[in-house]
Amino acid sequence: MTHFISLTATLRSEGQGLLVKIQPSGLLTLVLFGALMTDEELLRYSRQILLPEIDIDGQERLRRARALIVGLGGLGSAAAMYLAAAGVGQLTLVDFDTVDLSNLQRQIIHRTADRGRLKVASARDTLLALNPLIQIAAISKQLNDAEMQEQVEQVDVVVDATDNLATRLTINAACVRARTPLVSGAAIRLEGQVLVWRPGRDGACYQCLYHNAAMTSETCAQTGVLAPMVGIIGSIQALEAIKLLTGLGETLDGRLLLVDAARMEWQMMKVRRDPSCVVCGERMNKDQSSNRIQG
Ligand SMILES: [Zn+2]
Repeated sequence: MTHFISLTATLRSEGQGLLVKIQPSGLLTLVLFGALMTDEELLRYSRQILLPEIDIDGQERLRRARALIVGLGGLGSAAAMYLAAAGVGQLTLVDFDTVDLSNLQRQIIHRTADRGRLKVASARDTLLALNPLIQIAAISKQLNDAEMQEQVEQVDVVVDATDNLATRLTINAACVRARTPLVSGAAIRLEGQVLVWRPGRDGACYQCLYHNAAMTSETCAQTGVLAPMVGIIGSIQALEAIKLLTGLGETLDGRLLLVDAARMEWQMMKVRRDPSCVVCGERMNKDQSSNRIQG
């Protein structure tokens, strides 16, 4: 049992605070933090701060972090809501579409009353209601390659929650060029997959992989999807993004996660960089430095 009682902000002056953790053994841990997290933030994120792997430092990293979420459908709903709730400081939402009745079965960031509204506007309202302490930028257009590149360069992590191959490859190429970590997810029927790409690692990028990957050309509109499937995959994307932003654990880079929910089978496939990949092949040879978030 590892119950911690956390007394937060018992001492605070000039933007500094002292976090006191009392362990069951009676041992006191004192953490002096110099950032500007308020009492409200400390309480809001307290269950996350209690995790030794996150702590005040990790929460501060999340607070300073910028994430780009492309696609506010089913995957983006779960990913954006968890990233907002967890305290990722700046979210940029990109989607050109409007909310349709047929979206509501799985795109839970939107409400019935949002039908006809821009998805980014509807999503922004939900996210700010969930956590008014974060900043949200909404872009309601289909970005061309240059515009996507510009957005990708401004963030610490990209969550690809789109549903078509062409956009996925555009986002992937932009991330590799910008050296911005990418969390790519897909879900259809009762199947899902997640791939993480990180600069300076040996793992495959989406371009390396897509010849072999299932679900690349089908969409939910054509094939159908069971509602919780996008929630599962979108939640994993949020988790991997938080790991990338905080340095927690081992991310999915170099491994493709495949979920068959009908049989509830989870598989992991090692996916190495293709040396001849037109996107990441040459670049990686001169790219041995570790990624910029953890560095
Ligand atoms: Zn590649």
